[in-house]
Amino acid sequence: MSHALGHMCRDCLAAPAEMPEERCPECGSPRVLSHPELHRLAIAHIDCDAFYAAIEKRDCPDLVDRPVIIGGGRRGVVAAACYVARVYGIRSAMPMFKALEVCPDAVVIRPDMAKYAAVGSQVRALMRAATPLVEPLSIDEAFLDLGGTELLHRRSPAGTLARLALDIERTIGIGVSIGLSYNKFLAKTASDLDKPRGFAVIGCAEARQFLAPRPIGTIYGVGRALEARLRRDGISTIGDLQTIDEATLIRRYGAVGHQLHRFARGRDDRKVSPVQRAKSVSSETTLVADSADSAVLSRAMWPLCEDVARRLKARDVLGQRVTLKLKTADFRLMTRSRTLARPTNLAEELFQAVQPLLAREAGGEAFRLVGVGAEELCAAERAPQPDLLAPEDRPDARLERAIDRVRRKAGKTAIMKGRSL
Ligand SMILES: [Mg+2]
Repeated sequence: MSHALGHMCRDCLAAPAEMPEERCPECGSPRVLSHPELHRLAIAHIDCDAFYAAIEKRDCPDLVDRPVIIGGGRRGVVAAACYVARVYGIRSAMPMFKALEVCPDAVVIRPDMAKYAAVGSQVRALMRAATPLVEPLSIDEAFLDLGGTELLHRRSPAGTLARLALDIERTIGIGVSIGLSYNKFLAKTASDLDKPRGFAVIGCAEARQFLAPRPIGTIYGVGRALEARLRRDGISTIGDLQTIDEATLIRRYGAVGHQLHRFARGRDDRKVSPVQRAKSVSSETTLVADSADSAVLSRAMWPLCEDVARRLKARDVLGQRVTLKLKTADFRLMTRSRTLARPTNLAEELFQAVQPLLAREAGGEAFRLVGVGAEELCAAERAPQPDLLAPEDRPDARLERAIDRVRRKAGKTAIMKGRSL
């Protein structure tokens, strides 16, 4: 297995020392990759292409060439758009009425989160067969560290990734895009470069030059507030940052300055850390008196949601699934779960999510205990894509974080949101 020159066919996985043609000499596929560092890089970011829409198209082949939007419902925004719909300018988080204005023929499908979650776990299972070091970021994307897997798979990490993409296409029926590099920041940046069915590589040698023209907001962790501040200071591209020495950046921006200096040079020490699958965070309480009253039960849920949210935040994770737990007066245990459109660690969102579950069960028999749990945890990565609003940009999240900080200093009962009182 000598991979000195770094070529590979993404379809037959041939990795000849030389690949002079546009097409694979073995199978004729045009999907050939050539990069000097191709077989030496091991950190990947895999992102499913238009995940929700791809699943719906898979399940309804008539839709394959049509513009498909997943959305509707209470929020009235686009949850996902297929690549045909994107040609019309439709993007995630766009109000539905606006999307239908630019593309009246779009097929609108209500999201089926349970189905998407099931497909997401199938994708994750295939990832974990490639390496145990899988760090999910959301239902449809994850970091993978394939370092040390060469002997197991008898392929370079790049080869294993190409194989994995083919397996996901063949057995699950959806496409993925792969970013391959030497750290998480650049792997995530790369996976976005060549969508859909992409495979983009960013090597050590080119990282700095590659980053230079990119806007400052594409740096990991640079949210809107910091971006605005950097722009006011005349820094609009990563290249602008590269010209400033570390001491100056630290003097101006504090500890963030150190990070900015590193990321601008393509350096990122964060490890790919798998969050254990089975783990969940939950909280429960026994009621003072058994109750069938939905208002009483709902009130009891709020401090539990706060407790779960605080512990999720402390671990820097989000829950994709919320579970309501009820114990009847005669000690029968009932649990009801739902998958969220977007993972959360906010008490408010957990609370809103359990309300419909609770409404369905309340009013009949009396309960003695209520509980709430968050499951399918994933890392609370601050994704830089505009459609993934960073949690700290939302006012309710800011408020919750401020409350959490005061509590840590002053004790648990220092501040309570109105609902607790
Ligand atoms: Mg995706």
